[in-house]
Amino acid sequence: MAEKETKKNNKVVKKEKNAEGETGEEAATENLEFAELGPFETITGQRMPSAFFKFQFKNVEYSSGRHKTFLCYSVEKQGTECERSEGYVEDEHAGTHAESAFFTDIFTECDGSLSYSIIWYVSSSPCAVCAAKIAEYLSSSPNVELTIFMARLFMWEEAESHQGLRQLQAAGCRLRIMKAPEYNYCWNTYVDNEGEAFTPWEDLQDSSVFYEEKLHEILQQA
Ligand SMILES: [Zn+2]
Repeated sequence: MAEKETKKNNKVVKKEKNAEGETGEEAATENLEFAELGPFETITGQRMPSAFFKFQFKNVEYSSGRHKTFLCYSVEKQGTECERSEGYVEDEHAGTHAESAFFTDIFTECDGSLSYSIIWYVSSSPCAVCAAKIAEYLSSSPNVELTIFMARLFMWEEAESHQGLRQLQAAGCRLRIMKAPEYNYCWNTYVDNEGEAFTPWEDLQDSSVFYEEKLHEILQQA
């Protein structure tokens, strides 16, 4: 909870700065993220503030205070030419989940004659409802390939969540836990890192291994 408070405070501080019309880098780059949106709207963008990434993608075992999902995506379209697009989607759990928003706001045109390779880096694994929706979509779209790298497993003790992950796997979705290389990649691709290198937290590696073992167990229980 302490971390949540800190994050909230940071957000407020940045908003106030913008409101005062402060110039400089921060005000210029934060405008998009801190536009006056309601608390439950879906937010999309190219790069997120580094504090968001460090908090939301931290692979702690119990994610108290993180009532939203961040989804970074890379879509590669293969056909006559190869095109790639990248960005991120952010939700609040009370609104449309980021996974659904990806299909309604980002990936809206899927041409059946082309093939798509999509990679997601999500702060936590999809809830059971989203998992079922994604699985259904993948089953009916053989030209779409999806790999999901997850920082944390959402409610990993719940049978419902296990079922969701297995449904995704059965639909051909590749499920992986984010490790140091993925954190580095995300930091350099989706984060306003101001030229700073990614600094892993102390137990990043141990937590990745923990979640990887859990995921392996869950997927084996089919
Ligand atoms: Zn969901």
